[in-house]
Amino acid sequence: MTNEKLDTKRHSLAHIMAASIQEMFPEAKFGVGPVIEEGFFYDVHLSRPLTPEDLQAIEKRMRDKVKQNLRFERSEMPLDQASEVFKNMSQDFKVELLRDLKTRGTTAVADLGDSNLVGSNVNEVSVYKTGNFTDLCRGPHVKETGEIDPDSFRLTRVSGAYWRGNQEREQMQRVYGVAFDTKKELEEYLVRVEEAKKRDHRKVGRELGLFMFHPWAPGAAFWLPKGTTLYNTLANYMRGILFPAGYVEVKTPLIFNKALWETSGHWSHYRQNMFQIASEEEQMAVKAMNCPGHYLVFGSEVRSYRDLPIRLHEQTPLHRNEAFGVLSGLTRVRQFSQDDAHCFVMPEQIGDEVERLLGLVRRVYSDFSLPFEAKLGTRPAEFLGEVETWNHAEAQLKQALERANVPYELNEGDGAFYGPKIDIHVTDAIGRRWQCATLQLDYMMPERFDLKYVGADNAEHRVVVIHRAIFGSFERFIAILIEHYAGAFPVWLAPVQAMLIPIADRHAEYCKQVKERLGSAGLRVEIDSSVERMQAKIRNAQMQKIPYMLVVGDREQEQAAVAVRLRSGEDLKTKSVDEFRSIAREAIEQKK
Ligand SMILES: [Zn+2]
Ligand SMILES: [Zn+2]
Repeated sequence: MTNEKLDTKRHSLAHIMAASIQEMFPEAKFGVGPVIEEGFFYDVHLSRPLTPEDLQAIEKRMRDKVKQNLRFERSEMPLDQASEVFKNMSQDFKVELLRDLKTRGTTAVADLGDSNLVGSNVNEVSVYKTGNFTDLCRGPHVKETGEIDPDSFRLTRVSGAYWRGNQEREQMQRVYGVAFDTKKELEEYLVRVEEAKKRDHRKVGRELGLFMFHPWAPGAAFWLPKGTTLYNTLANYMRGILFPAGYVEVKTPLIFNKALWETSGHWSHYRQNMFQIASEEEQMAVKAMNCPGHYLVFGSEVRSYRDLPIRLHEQTPLHRNEAFGVLSGLTRVRQFSQDDAHCFVMPEQIGDEVERLLGLVRRVYSDFSLPFEAKLGTRPAEFLGEVETWNHAEAQLKQALERANVPYELNEGDGAFYGPKIDIHVTDAIGRRWQCATLQLDYMMPERFDLKYVGADNAEHRVVVIHRAIFGSFERFIAILIEHYAGAFPVWLAPVQAMLIPIADRHAEYCKQVKERLGSAGLRVEIDSSVERMQAKIRNAQMQKIPYMLVVGDREQEQAAVAVRLRSGEDLKTKSVDEFRSIAREAIEQKK
């Protein structure tokens, strides 16, 4: 079944839900009821707030209606006649929409986010009747409700919303539902939601002491010692991947004169998303991306074709002035860093460079056990440059994807206006997809910044820039990893890799020696010197998802050994300190 068919079912259920609400609350006035990811909602104005019991009752009525195999009956009528129909039913919001439609055309409903509301012809509208419920709608719907599995949907929650998103207007109740093709898929979804709640990076991050936030720095994380360890481990891992692949690291300024942003075009198009700073002499802005700084670095010297590709990597912080209301954990922040790089290449090097890049992408994601897939976005309707250049670039990207053996989907017209792109999506341990890596060709910035190289013909040529990131932002990638691993990081990433647990005070000194020995071998080890009993210490270490617990009593101390337990509860028995060191080193090496 295609998504379109499923969306039709979901949207049809919004009607069925509204019909059920109307039966229970005859005074109900309806706003809009669009399809959303995994389901639908309907905005409704009622005399009292809906309770969880109401939701259950509505859901039951919906189920009954679905079983009655109701038909969706369509009729078309002129605007004025439709206004009469909805006026007689006291559906004031629909009447308002029809009035706006008459005076302002489809732009009147553009802000409502409901593509089903009306079609492009605004002189006539279509109206659908299901049972006793009539709604203004363009369709499409299922023919009959019998097409819907009565056990495949669930009403999930109610939230507040203003009519037309306007705080001066009526307060509506937004009733949400989820729906799938089958009961089984619905159940799988509900399990996934529960699992996702348990893994929520904001919750797990707090429990594991990785990061915190403070109202005085909205959207900017405080990385606590353990979180900083994790962050730095990832940062250095990425350096270890990129340096052998021919990248060099740079650090460019965080704050730039607006002249830079004017040259890049961000001043006119992106200024409101940047933090601006007035300094003594100039208008400045904090960088929201590294690209323009890298252009200045590239342009600072005469570049020969023999020097290309030049690959500049940078991890310094970026700031974007995101609206307060959208900030969320580590996934929507104002301050972040990327594993960013810009590759400056000759046009004929695009294919090779992209193939190498896809090789790096494959290697990185396999180290995190994240399966991935690619989408190739091609020339949009409005584009910069020559069609020929685009065709050449797209052909090189396709070949690179094929040579790198990366399965991909073609997204016709989804490229940026200045070049085609490849987006990479990963799938986490509970089946959710996240966009991480991007790879964007850019023909525009080399023009704006006059970036060129001297070719073998001794003439000057334009370079092509490839913007690319594999993690994306460290902040967001860490959020994904926390949820992917449910906080139980593999040994190489775990902020604390082993916890030493002395059984009695007399083992404390020996524990210190072991910690020092393991520490000098590069392992991150701590000692639990609390007064709690051994079992409680083991439980604490398990809660902290520490990969190894090393219990030390008289026998271990005598034998220069540790009793090794895994966080899963598995008992590896007594190992000499050297044996344990090898076990841990091997796990780290194999990224386990
Ligand atoms: Zn509809
Ligand atoms: Zn860039």
